[in-house]
Amino acid sequence: MNIAALQKTMANRPWWRLTLRWNRRWSLWALLVALVVAMLGTLVWLAGRYEGGLIQTRLERDTAEIVTDIRTGLMRNIQRLQTLQSTERSAETWRLQVNELLRQHREILRVEWRDESLDLQLADDTPFRQSVFERMSRANAMQDTAQACATGLRVSGPAYSGSYFMPQKDGLGMELLDLCIPLTNEGQLTGYTVVTYSLQEILSELVNKQLSRGQGLSFTEADGTRLAIAGTPTRGTRVYSAHQLLDLPGTTLVVRMDSWRGTPDFFPNVLTALVSAMAIALVAVLLLLGRDMRKRLKAENDLADALAFRKAMEDSLVTGLRARDLQGRITYVNPAFCEMVGVDAKELLDHNFPSPYWPPELAGAYQDRQAIRLASASLPRGGHESIFMRRDGTRFPVLIIEAPLINATGKHTGWMSAILDISEQRRVEEVSRTSQDRLQATARLAMVGEMASLLSHELNQPLAAISSYATGSLNLLGDARGTDVTLSADLRLALKRIGEQAERAGKVIKSVHDFVRRRDQVRERVAPRALLDAIMPLVSLQARKLSVRLAIEVDPACAVVLCDRTMVEQVLLNLARNGMQAMQAESRKTHTHERVLTLRVKPAAASETNRWVEFSVADQGVGISDEVAAKLFTPFFTTRAEGMGLGLSLCRTVIEQHGGYLGHEPAKPRGTIFKFTLPSGPIPGKPAPSITAFQTTPDASEFLT
Ligand code: ADP
Repeated sequence: MNIAALQKTMANRPWWRLTLRWNRRWSLWALLVALVVAMLGTLVWLAGRYEGGLIQTRLERDTAEIVTDIRTGLMRNIQRLQTLQSTERSAETWRLQVNELLRQHREILRVEWRDESLDLQLADDTPFRQSVFERMSRANAMQDTAQACATGLRVSGPAYSGSYFMPQKDGLGMELLDLCIPLTNEGQLTGYTVVTYSLQEILSELVNKQLSRGQGLSFTEADGTRLAIAGTPTRGTRVYSAHQLLDLPGTTLVVRMDSWRGTPDFFPNVLTALVSAMAIALVAVLLLLGRDMRKRLKAENDLADALAFRKAMEDSLVTGLRARDLQGRITYVNPAFCEMVGVDAKELLDHNFPSPYWPPELAGAYQDRQAIRLASASLPRGGHESIFMRRDGTRFPVLIIEAPLINATGKHTGWMSAILDISEQRRVEEVSRTSQDRLQATARLAMVGEMASLLSHELNQPLAAISSYATGSLNLLGDARGTDVTLSADLRLALKRIGEQAERAGKVIKSVHDFVRRRDQVRERVAPRALLDAIMPLVSLQARKLSVRLAIEVDPACAVVLCDRTMVEQVLLNLARNGMQAMQAESRKTHTHERVLTLRVKPAAASETNRWVEFSVADQGVGISDEVAAKLFTPFFTTRAEGMGLGLSLCRTVIEQHGGYLGHEPAKPRGTIFKFTLPSGPIPGKPAPSITAFQTTPDASEFLT
């Protein structure tokens, strides 16, 4: 398919198909982009979730650690407080120790020593702030304390009260928690140590600062109400919370830790960022690939177009194309070459030496020639002629023009040949050569004609003179009554014959003259026998000389023939003479003595308008080979040294001008039979053919061939 055809196909394609194709391509791209975006989104979301999970876990862990810290701190405090119990209970030492304790532990706001009925014995407040019970008296909170002490008594150990709110002087308030440690002596309750904790201070003092930095740490109630808060969390858009129960004897608190995270980060972590970068790179690579593919597709289409164009061009060429590698093996042939040699391309490509289109008799020479050609780097630019063979064995001439095949890297890879079938050219040349020959022959014939006319003119008079002298001599011999009768009779006959032949020569010359001058000739009715008789003296003379026996067979049924008598006699004479000469050549070869020349006349098949008589002259000579037969009637063709080669061509022209046919066939067992036909007259009832005159012919060459 060439480019025009391709364009036509495109033009014939309906618009909606093209649109569909275009849409499909874009929808594929859109799908791809959507998939990549979805994947990215999922990745970001998963990464976010993962990171959230991590934060939450860390938060939970931190909270658990904080609870442990608080519990440990409180436990340590209890231990310190229990030492107060073991020492001698003097007010002074108690105060000293408590003072020390309060200084060291800011979370403890107040330590009280109460007796077994919970009456206050001694109390000391933290030195870091004013007493918490300044605004509202201690008695307001005593209920919770008493409950804690009751619990402590019950469990025989320290117990905590529930947290309670204590308004302060500054208008604010704080959440407090009491710890009651029953004091016993030898199993006997001796009093209580009551410690008041600030929840907020517990958070800020007992918790590892590292853990609580930037976090919102608080104690809450079960319903989420905050009791005390420590630390201000960093603001963020997303809050993470962890809750842990702080189980204390007598009460349970909930520790809550809030962590604010800045989730607006589009890429929550490095992993997401990495994956996203890779996805973006993937999309970019896909886009580049797409562009590359489009370019490749275009290049492929262009290449396909170019190939289709090249193929169309090669297929439509009438010149055969053949490519060979450096070893001379065929690597490519076009259809024109296959058609030229009648062999399939596949067979030609598979075939080794000798090539199937080399004539077997020339294969050796071609192989040598090829070896020389391929060895030399330069080839004749004008090409060379050769003979190829078709599959049916017929040979034909070709012109081969060869050029080196250079590949894209400039390497010489083989040879490219253009092959032209020049049989037609040769035929035209042959025709022109033949017509050239014929022209030359015509020119020579024209000369012969001129010569014949001249001769006939010049010879007529001497022949007439011979004839009249012969007549005169005869008359004289008749008048003189000689003594030697036999001699005079012989002389008379000889002179008579001279006279006859001179007369005949005169007639022949006239006939030829008329023939050459193309004058109309009158035909006469002659008995076939009379034609034979007329030539007999001359034929028998030659027959005797060449030891040939003459046999004459005339069918009595033969009618008279209508002809130019002299010329037909000349035809018979020529054929008889040729026959005898052929036998002479044969006898020289075979040394046979029996040589018969048979002159036969018989009726021939009648045509539509005429009856015909067939004359034949059969010899037992050398016969006619195919080669000689091909040129037999060509003017000036002869195999004899002294021959002129005009006899047979003249004979045929004469016979054909009578409307007859002259031909030859081989005789059995040897020799040749020349046959010709002459019209014997019109069939009664049919109009007579217009044969009173020779048909005039345009030129002398046609006349004689
Ligand atoms: P010419 O007799 O001058 O050679 P022709 O035209 O009569 O010219 O004959 C042409 C050739 O035909 C002869 O040279 C001869 O080779 C061949 N030829 C003619 N007649 C016979 C024949 N009867 N047998 C064999 N060859 C013949």
